[in-house]
Amino acid sequence: MANTLTAADWQQRAEALTFNGQAFIGGEYCDAVSGEVFDCINPANGQVLVSVASCDQVDADNAVRIAREAFRQSENWANPGFRKKVLLKLAQLISSHREELALLETLDMGKGISDSLYVDIPASANCIRWNAEAIDKVYGEVAPTANNHLGLVVREPLGVVAAIVPWNFPLMMASWKIGPALAAGNAVILKPSEKSPLTAIRLAQLAKEAGVPDGIFQVLPGFGHTVGQALALHMDVNVIAFTGSTAVGKQLIQYAGQSNMKRTFMECGGKSPNIVCADVENLDKVAAAAASAIFYNQGEVCIAASRLLVENSIRDEFVEKVMARAEKFMPGNPLEPSSRMGAIVDQPQLQRVLGYIGKGCDEGARLRYGGEQLDTVAGGCFVGPTVFDNVTPEMTIAREEIFGPVLAVISFDSLEEAIEIANDTDYGLAAAVWTSNINKALKAARKLESGQVFINNYGGGDMTVPFGGVKQSGNGRDKSIHSLEEYSELKTIWIEIE
Ligand code: NAD
Repeated sequence: MANTLTAADWQQRAEALTFNGQAFIGGEYCDAVSGEVFDCINPANGQVLVSVASCDQVDADNAVRIAREAFRQSENWANPGFRKKVLLKLAQLISSHREELALLETLDMGKGISDSLYVDIPASANCIRWNAEAIDKVYGEVAPTANNHLGLVVREPLGVVAAIVPWNFPLMMASWKIGPALAAGNAVILKPSEKSPLTAIRLAQLAKEAGVPDGIFQVLPGFGHTVGQALALHMDVNVIAFTGSTAVGKQLIQYAGQSNMKRTFMECGGKSPNIVCADVENLDKVAAAAASAIFYNQGEVCIAASRLLVENSIRDEFVEKVMARAEKFMPGNPLEPSSRMGAIVDQPQLQRVLGYIGKGCDEGARLRYGGEQLDTVAGGCFVGPTVFDNVTPEMTIAREEIFGPVLAVISFDSLEEAIEIANDTDYGLAAAVWTSNINKALKAARKLESGQVFINNYGGGDMTVPFGGVKQSGNGRDKSIHSLEEYSELKTIWIEIE
């Protein structure tokens, strides 16, 4: 349903909004035991929204103990029919609060209100709903044993899941973990990013209203090196479900080894190649998709197509078309519904993006478009869509994840060369190939080292297909029935038949 609110309407609602920065432990909102707080800042204008509880090891210990008790004792939660009813209700509550949640998301991390309203919040509700509906459709197995035995293979929840998530799609990334983890019958402790805790905190209350038993879903805001680390090193946490950077993902795997060998599902960074062959039919359409694939969400997207590989014979024409499209992504006030790009999440991230732009220039890439900090709204963190041409595969901007609206254009002469360049990276999250030749497309899809390959589109997919990476992009899979299965353990029950 179309929303007719204007920027002024959203601003008015923002001013009337009550912000809650507390943790949610044992079914109640509370402060961190230490009393410590940190400022939650609106990156569009630098203003403080609210003080947020800065949880640490003491709060983590409390939450894990409560989660374990609730997991062991809640007969309701062990009942698939109960979980289904409650999670369907939660999905419905997310949908019915979508304007409030979208506003919180936009104020907290700077993305455009239309993206929050039409993408993030509906996708979050959809993920919870999809997993709820799947709960009573996953069966155990009877093993093909000899007649005098019966081998039952049953699926059981893993126990206490700590979900540690990033700031780029705060509620959506959280939902990709919470949806399957709760559906499978686990108790979940959510640690949102310190840069974007507000929707997670609000979600806790909605979960309680939906009927999630106390202790089964808890939210611990705070920093990675305090509460995040405490959860990852905890001896009674069964799983770390993580989305975030490769560097932190590697640390978490070490923490698992140092502590109780907990499972770790990692969804990490990317440097995704978008390969455009000269035989594509509609260059304008492909250019529009290539621009959207890097500039959407300020480029703060794990599968952002940050490397555009273009066949030499069409390079100049194609780059012109991409730049024409880039213009449509000039940042605007995030509360303005027509803004297709909002603010960068905070000052350090803005400086990081500007640093990479400087490096691109220093290393000899040709800056064709953008590249500057903008004062779109006073006190805000804004940088425009940026296009570098003449990039070579060894340059820093072609190798490192920038996580901002910066496109590196690399040219190639043959598809084999393009695939070689595409695969020459530590990452393997997403890749795309555009061609009108289906044989070329399928050959490339097989050879690209990537968790997902898009043919003649970028970033497509829905809840039915898994999302995740290979190489240093991680080892987990969000979405689809495979992620629901990830959050359960196989148990064998062996029966002798007399
Ligand atoms: P980050 O790794 O800095 O932080 C992610 C989360 O980990 C945050 O909640 C943070 O507080 C926590 N954390 C940090 N240090 C920790 C520690 N020592 N112990 C425990 N927790 C710790 O990432 P970010 O900057 O929030 O997000 C950007 C990154 O996320 C990018 O690399 C992006 O590619 C990746 N990402 C990946 C996917 C995917 O599905 N593969 C999706 C979205 C984002």
